[in-house]
Amino acid sequence: MITYRTQIAIIGSGPSGLLLGQLLNRAGIDNIIIDRVSKSYILSRVRAGVLEGSSVAMLDKAGVGTRIHKDGLLHGGFELAFSGRSERIDMQGLTGQSVMVYGQTEVTSDLMDAREADGALSIYDAEGAQPHDFDGHSPHVTFKKDSVSHRIDCDFIAGCDGYHGPCRKAIPTGALHTFEKHYPFGWLGILAEVPPVSHELIYANHSNGFALCSMRSAKRSRYYIQCTADDRVENWSDQLFWDELRRRLPEHFADAMVIGPSFEKSIALLRSFVAEPMRFGTMFLVGDAAHIVPPTGAKGLNLAVSDVHYLYEALLEHYNGKSPAGIDHYSQKALARVWKAVRFSWWFTTCMHRFPNTDAFDQRIQEAELDYLSKSTAAKTSVAENYVGLPY
Ligand SMILES: Cc1cc2nc3c(=O)[nH]c(=O)nc-3n(C[C@H](O)[C@H](O)[C@H](O)COP(=O)(O)OP(=O)(O)OC[C@H]3O[C@@H](n4cnc5c(N)ncnc54)[C@H](O)[C@@H]3O)c2cc1C
Repeated sequence: MITYRTQIAIIGSGPSGLLLGQLLNRAGIDNIIIDRVSKSYILSRVRAGVLEGSSVAMLDKAGVGTRIHKDGLLHGGFELAFSGRSERIDMQGLTGQSVMVYGQTEVTSDLMDAREADGALSIYDAEGAQPHDFDGHSPHVTFKKDSVSHRIDCDFIAGCDGYHGPCRKAIPTGALHTFEKHYPFGWLGILAEVPPVSHELIYANHSNGFALCSMRSAKRSRYYIQCTADDRVENWSDQLFWDELRRRLPEHFADAMVIGPSFEKSIALLRSFVAEPMRFGTMFLVGDAAHIVPPTGAKGLNLAVSDVHYLYEALLEHYNGKSPAGIDHYSQKALARVWKAVRFSWWFTTCMHRFPNTDAFDQRIQEAELDYLSKSTAAKTSVAENYVGLPY
């Protein structure tokens, strides 16, 4: 057996694990990251793309902000389309803040490069990772690599291992309270090498269902349409997708849309999930390991970053301030912000999508809500301040 000793064993090399690792490196707190898959596999996973200002500030703090500020697209607003028209939510004007469009794969790649430059240890293709004794005195993580057993002894375990990871599952039944909501539809998304139809995101409510026009760069578009929960990618040729997307947009956007072949097409089901508490003994749950939100509010990645903020501050307080207060309050602080983002994501999902039982009355109610929203500064400000992200 190969053995290691570190201060923080981090399971998961997604955005939360890598960001936590990088902040800890800079603070001189030793850590090891392990992941079940390879680096290249992680970098090929197309996921989130909208960063709150606070998330960008955290990446700056981790020393990886250079490329984001150079290549990221700063957005001061977004369009809400409904009833054949569109209204702009001027986030910058209403809140003084904006968001940054920068792909999750780029964030991950920047963090991996920085970690490599620091010479910190990451172990990929680690099989069967398991946290042990996190409610006792010798927390440790075991796994196998190339059929050889490994063991990492540590002070704390950070479960940054996503929804399907082993950390949350290792917590005894009864010690965890979970909350879950499944939405009866999915998003069919494509990536295409075409310029975005608008320089800002367009969220569209249409009687055929929701649509979102997003982007990854000035030349690459990310578009979505609501589909049924049992739909399949094979049912959608590029032409069918473009026709349906354009149908769901106001005419001025549909006419301006540049179409082209897609190079990625996938369906994501929408759900909300929260596990409480986010700390069990010396193990912490971080990011998707503890909560999932539907992508409508663009909060998944941003919540992973705010969890890291609370945990990083708590660990600093433990090691430098010699106080357990931060660690004791990690779960409570993180969950307070998580639930507000879960609420916003649920609200935005509810008022933008067509549900199986949506009838003409419900559709009018949605349109009335969006019309009110577009005309009331108070309502718009509420949406804008949630979208740019609530303070930590
Ligand atoms: C298909 C998809 C589309 C998404 N789109 C959006 C979006 O548009 N906007 C948005 O805001 N959010 C989106 N999200 C959510 C966002 O990507 C996540 O919130 C974010 O990745 C959370 O980061 P994380 O580090 O907590 O978890 P993850 O990114 O899931 O990272 C967890 C890591 O743990 C590793 N791991 C798992 N099991 C083990 C194990 N047994 N041993 C070792 N390592 C393990 C995984 O390989 C992975 O690398 C999307 C998510 C998915 C799945």
